[in-house]
Amino acid sequence: MSQETIQLITQITYLISSILFILGIKRLGKTSTAREGNFYSALAMFLAVVVTLINQGVLSYVEIFATILVGSAVGLYIARTVEMTKMPEMVALFNGFGGLSSVLVASAEFWRSVVQEELSVGIVVMVTVILSVLIGSVTLTGSLVAYGKLSGKVNGNAITFKGQHLLNLILFLVLLVAAVLLVVEPSQVLYLYAVVGIALLLGILTVIPIGGADMPVVVSLLNSYSGIAAGATGFVLNNQVLIISGALVGASGLILTQIMCKAMNRSLVNVLLGGFGQTASTAGGAGGQEMVVKEVGVEESAMLFDAASSVIIVPGYGMAVAQAQHAVRELTELLEGKNISVKFAIHPVAGRMPGHMNVLLAEANISYDKLIEMESINDDFANTDICFVIGANDVVNPAARADTSSPIYGMPILNADKARTVIVSKRSMNVGYAGVQNELFGYPNCLMLFGDAKSTLTKVVGELKEM
Ligand code: NDP
Repeated sequence: MSQETIQLITQITYLISSILFILGIKRLGKTSTAREGNFYSALAMFLAVVVTLINQGVLSYVEIFATILVGSAVGLYIARTVEMTKMPEMVALFNGFGGLSSVLVASAEFWRSVVQEELSVGIVVMVTVILSVLIGSVTLTGSLVAYGKLSGKVNGNAITFKGQHLLNLILFLVLLVAAVLLVVEPSQVLYLYAVVGIALLLGILTVIPIGGADMPVVVSLLNSYSGIAAGATGFVLNNQVLIISGALVGASGLILTQIMCKAMNRSLVNVLLGGFGQTASTAGGAGGQEMVVKEVGVEESAMLFDAASSVIIVPGYGMAVAQAQHAVRELTELLEGKNISVKFAIHPVAGRMPGHMNVLLAEANISYDKLIEMESINDDFANTDICFVIGANDVVNPAARADTSSPIYGMPILNADKARTVIVSKRSMNVGYAGVQNELFGYPNCLMLFGDAKSTLTKVVGELKEM
């Protein structure tokens, strides 16, 4: 096959891959089409890798295939064994590796052309190399710190010290100077080392002041960075599919970050400047005064469910911790068998990552059409007999509506308190992520069903079966 034909096939395959990436990301936007979207994107990546390997002057296929084999085996093992609640830390780690790849590829290309072949590269190439290693390095160390905080391997509290922001600013300015010098004198490799070194340091310094609880937002932002770094590497290599896929990851990561911040009623600057996690880590505070709550038992709960004609289930982080989604499915089937309508109210930031509840409920085979987004279901609570809150806390805290002093004031919440009866399944009076007590638990229409969500729900299901 002539070189021109190979080039043509490569470009056409890149085009097909790019279209598949775009279709894939579009389909990932809806739970019902997400699996398909994932498949399209994986196929796009597969085609892009295959055609790149055929087209480029590959030195040794043996090493490449051995690496692919080991990498795929490790990836497959991690993806299959990771627990749902550990997903954000896995994504953080993988983002970091994405950043590292960009640093390695861009540096290798710089090394080959500037150091080995002593080519005089243009300003555009140098700027893209610098962007690639800079963003890639920040992504690498930032993601590793995020992973450490989420997994508890490093202190999850916000680490702050005097002059922190000033130090970051000075480091950034020194980095800029090194970058400009590198553009002017590409043969001075020392400047490249300086850019990489400072960027690695900045990755650590910008993530440590952010509390562990805010890490999912940071992970989403770092995901966007890893896309931008990959896109910049695409410019270095003059590879269109890398530019397009990097741009897609960069843009979608930014949009997701924005959605998360909006749903938490926080600005991105507020998240990045840190501090919120410190409040959240002081879990247990009951906001000063004692709250009187009414407790309900398993048997009484089952009787209440049996007498209801409509139920809205509000799942939250505790359902994920307890892995209670299968028990929830059983409850749903039992209630529907008794002609009781069951719907699920999904808050955009319930749990600890976007789509957390959707994924868990889908895993338990609960049909997508029962999962209703906050804006669409909020008016239905007032006409509902029972709102069953399972492991959710902040997303149903009425203080968000009226208490201007509350850290969650302004966050849009589910109107669970408007239901005729609210049953809350949680283990104790402990606070949720935002670190504030929930006044709903003291409302006259609210009953607390204390205990691990999975074990209490299994008992409720057992009681209901006998009714
Ligand atoms: P919360 O974190 O507010 O509350 C979870 C509750 O679950 C806790 O109060 C806890 O109470 C209970 N719980 C824990 N384990 C169990 C168990 N085994 N059985 C029963 N209950 C249990 O969760 P929400 O989902 O309501 O809110 C999510 C919060 O996370 C929001 O503040 C959101 O802003 C934040 N967030 C969300 C992100 C996302 O993308 N989804 C990202 C970053 C932050 P107890 O200990 O008493 O059992």
